Amino acid sequence: MAQVQRMSRLMIKTLRDDPADAETLSHKLLVRAGYVRRTSAGIWSWLPLGKKVLENVARVVREEMDAIGGQEVLLPALLPREPYDASGRWDEYGDLLFRVKDRKGADYLLGPTHEEIFTQIVKDQCSSYKDLPVILYQIQTKYRDEARPRSGVLRGREFQMKDSYSFDTTDEGLVESYALHREAYQKIFARLGLDYRIVSAVSGAMGGSASEEFLAPAAAGEDTFVDCPACDYAANTEAVTFALAPVEGVEHGPVEELDTPDTPTIETLAEHLGVTASATLKNLLVKVDGEIVAVGVPGDREVDLGKLGEHLAPAVVELVTAEDFVGRADLVRGYVGPQGLDKVRYIADPRVAPGTAWITGANKADKHARNVVCGRDFEVDDYLDVVVVEEGDPCPVCGTGLKLDRAIEIGHIFQLGRKYADTFQLDVLGQNGKPVRVTMGSYGIGVSRAVAALAEQSADSQGLCWPREVAPADVHVVAAGKALQTELALDVSEKLGAAGVRVLVDDRAGVSPGVKFTDSELIGVPQILVAGRRSAEGVLELKDRRTGEREELTVAEAVARLTA
Ligand code: ATP
Ligand code: MG
Repeated sequence: MAQVQRMSRLMIKTLRDDPADAETLSHKLLVRAGYVRRTSAGIWSWLPLGKKVLENVARVVREEMDAIGGQEVLLPALLPREPYDASGRWDEYGDLLFRVKDRKGADYLLGPTHEEIFTQIVKDQCSSYKDLPVILYQIQTKYRDEARPRSGVLRGREFQMKDSYSFDTTDEGLVESYALHREAYQKIFARLGLDYRIVSAVSGAMGGSASEEFLAPAAAGEDTFVDCPACDYAANTEAVTFALAPVEGVEHGPVEELDTPDTPTIETLAEHLGVTASATLKNLLVKVDGEIVAVGVPGDREVDLGKLGEHLAPAVVELVTAEDFVGRADLVRGYVGPQGLDKVRYIADPRVAPGTAWITGANKADKHARNVVCGRDFEVDDYLDVVVVEEGDPCPVCGTGLKLDRAIEIGHIFQLGRKYADTFQLDVLGQNGKPVRVTMGSYGIGVSRAVAALAEQSADSQGLCWPREVAPADVHVVAAGKALQTELALDVSEKLGAAGVRVLVDDRAGVSPGVKFTDSELIGVPQILVAGRRSAEGVLELKDRRTGEREELTVAEAVARLTA
């Protein structure tokens, strides 16, 4: 017996107009269809239909986490400060953390994520290698004082997250726990009916699959990623690489000095010489741990300082200031060329390949040089991918022009290693009787965010349109209005319920058929069964919410169809 929810007894108020502050589709529709209500900025109440969808997502997540041997626990959201002091995150989180004091003035926080507390629990509960591996998870309310809480439940200050943590004694064990999560996530998002891509979250230089994000392509997404239209390559924009391809067999003339007065920028230079910016070599000076370093990229490309910083970490990268040029006759500001930089480390984008020729600074005021050839006139000390990726850049796998798309991050899996185990000295007794330091993984899914991501991907101009697995009901039975129609609607609803079909039945009196139909489209249950014109004959009309296809069926036929 599945639930038959009568709309005459359901607390629901649908809205005809979009809420004034809503920008994204999911925000508008979830509010208009009566799934959620804003309680405060980034803080949401889940109303009856919304709670059902949220629970359905949570159920799928639970089933797949249980299937990989995950054990569900529930840790507090209100946490003491000390463990977060130990990990350094009490300070690192800055304004993102909600901090509270108790009546005695002691510091607490509302948990943004729980690595510290899980590490402590396992330290308390597990003492031998025989107790591991272990995967623990919870579905719980998280708190983050996000700078821009917008887009409804997509980015809340209070939200539901499934967070899990794996504990292993060996690196191979961690890789295995990570792989289990990756597969579980693939099953979860497929069952939810979400279109998603898995992208490497960090650049190859930092070790490939140690961290991956699950992205749901959607216009409302706040993440940009690259997607190859020809193969299945997808990546975080920071992780895109460009293959170094030396050019051989091309003869270039000798370096030639050019008079280029008043051309301190690439634009003024290209205009003065009548060339495209891509023929020029731009040399950005930065300080790496205080030492001046030059970074060469084609003149039409931008340097991504974040990417550069990631490549050079833990070294600190800063921009140079006028003072850094004092006493450096070799550095002529605005006219730097790598052919004169003997004392400066030269980092270049792989597009500056051996054998390529460039127009670049001549290391003299108002002068540039032509035919400056990489490998002949200057050497590159390190090749690093440092340019901002652009639409049309070649796919590193197949060479096709890449597309830049927007997406919502719905999940994140991460091989943490021993960072938290080191902080809390989490050891277990190994096979040889000696203590072994435990290695960890941490894995998140935005459960409430997934509801919004699903709404974004599946809605159409009429309203929401849920995949059956997450829908608040399997079928929405609509009684057009007359007593006879209501009778038939309730009769078929009862039979469907008895057959295990979840029913939402619109039996509201005094509501026009037009409003009921509009509401059924807005609410987005995947099948709509109407007791209308032919009710006297016991015939109903079944409409597919997505395709709009209609079919006339008797009560028995409708029950058979919806239980198939
Ligand atoms: P984002 O970059 O979107 O802020 P994040 O990198 O901070 O996400 P994690 O710390 O990895 O996210 O959290 C795990 C998951 O929790 C994310 O993949 C996302 O689905 C969800 N999540 C994170 N922040 C929020 C939020 N403010 N509202 C709703 N869901 C969130
Ligand atoms: Mg965040």
